[in-house]
Amino acid sequence: METNSSKGMGTRCVQAGYTPTNGGPRQMPIVYSTTFKYDTSEDMGKLFDLEAEGYFYSRLQNPTNDYVAAKIAALEGGTAAMLTSSGQAANFFALFNICEAGDHIVASSSIYGGTYNLIHVTMAKMGIESTFVSPTATEEELAAAFRPNTKAMFGESIANPALTVLDVEKFARVAHAHGVPLIVDNTFPTPINLRPIEWGADIVTHSTTKYMDGHASAVGGAIVDSGKFDWMAHADKFPGLTTPDESYHGIVYAEKFGQAGAFITKATSQLMRDFGSIQQPMTAYLLNLGLESLHVRMPRHVANGQAVAEFLEAHPKVERVQYPGLPSNPYYELAQRLMGNGGCGVVSCELKGGREAASKFMRSLKLASIETHVADSRTCCLNPASSTHRQMSDAELEAAGVPAGMIRISCGLEDAEDIIADLEQALEA
Ligand SMILES: *Cc1c(COP(=O)(O)O)cnc(C)c1O
Repeated sequence: METNSSKGMGTRCVQAGYTPTNGGPRQMPIVYSTTFKYDTSEDMGKLFDLEAEGYFYSRLQNPTNDYVAAKIAALEGGTAAMLTSSGQAANFFALFNICEAGDHIVASSSIYGGTYNLIHVTMAKMGIESTFVSPTATEEELAAAFRPNTKAMFGESIANPALTVLDVEKFARVAHAHGVPLIVDNTFPTPINLRPIEWGADIVTHSTTKYMDGHASAVGGAIVDSGKFDWMAHADKFPGLTTPDESYHGIVYAEKFGQAGAFITKATSQLMRDFGSIQQPMTAYLLNLGLESLHVRMPRHVANGQAVAEFLEAHPKVERVQYPGLPSNPYYELAQRLMGNGGCGVVSCELKGGREAASKFMRSLKLASIETHVADSRTCCLNPASSTHRQMSDAELEAAGVPAGMIRISCGLEDAEDIIADLEQALEA
């Protein structure tokens, strides 16, 4: 996998992944083929035995996807990566690759609603238990959540929509002290603003649907392996990686593919094979167009987010503003340390007057649209309590840091003055 990890972030955004051959297409080809042709059965057999690299069926792997996965691996500073059909699939695969019935996950309570459901409800049905911890818990409190059957720790670098910041170093220290990897969903900062692997994370996941695509065009996900977690040193905890896979002729992933490749190879050859949640090549192509300008777009999202947060904080009708770039924010110091260039363009605020004021504000918006989405070029707003977080009780909403009157504003790439003027007239209304 060509990773270009020694180049600057902008160069990686533009050029990592696909390298044209002499006379080959300059733009990454979209390989729309379900299957691939071989001269002999023996040639193809080697692929099925994982003895040779190559493609045989696009439910498991596709060249277009692999170019883009290689680019994302280069951006995060990982050793291997794969694309999935959605961010949900990415988080499910990242966890299910190392957890099975009877196992346990420790997760930050401040995470995306869909991921909370995945872990708390759906994975529980599969026999995988979980304990949720506050992102601000002390190391002792975090340690107390661990059990002998804990297999993974999970958190979001900047949580959607609560905008809490994960102390990646602290979480990684506690995870490693218990012999398990830290998985970080890095959707909001993107590797332009934060590279969790540099702070100790072992696996990084993305909803590429958000800033990476950046244009609200295509749903997708990605998983990146740092290659740093020593599965063999904790062989008893991770038998799926360290003992023979009977569904693959007795291959031991951690032996055959080493630390750098075991995790992604297993997730591809077992989970993609059996669950088939692969990203479409056309989606990977659109994602790559987004990635080519990620380093240009992120600073503008951050600048607009900062301007909107400062405007809202000074407004009398606003109860409080959550944005890690405000010096008044409890995560400000941590955010400055982990993300010197800023975090993201998503700002949340709580209006005075709760649910009713929120609904009136939402109805009055003109430029910003109401969407169940964040992180694209157009500014959009959402009231989580009446949409994405509907299924959560008031206590759960409170624990997740999402009160009923909260508005999430995803600042797009428009002019800051126009975004602010729209928010201002909606607040006056
Ligand atoms: C949107 C989102 C997800 C889920 O991703 P989909 O692509 O919608 O499946 C997961 N984590 C975070 C932080 C998100 O914002």
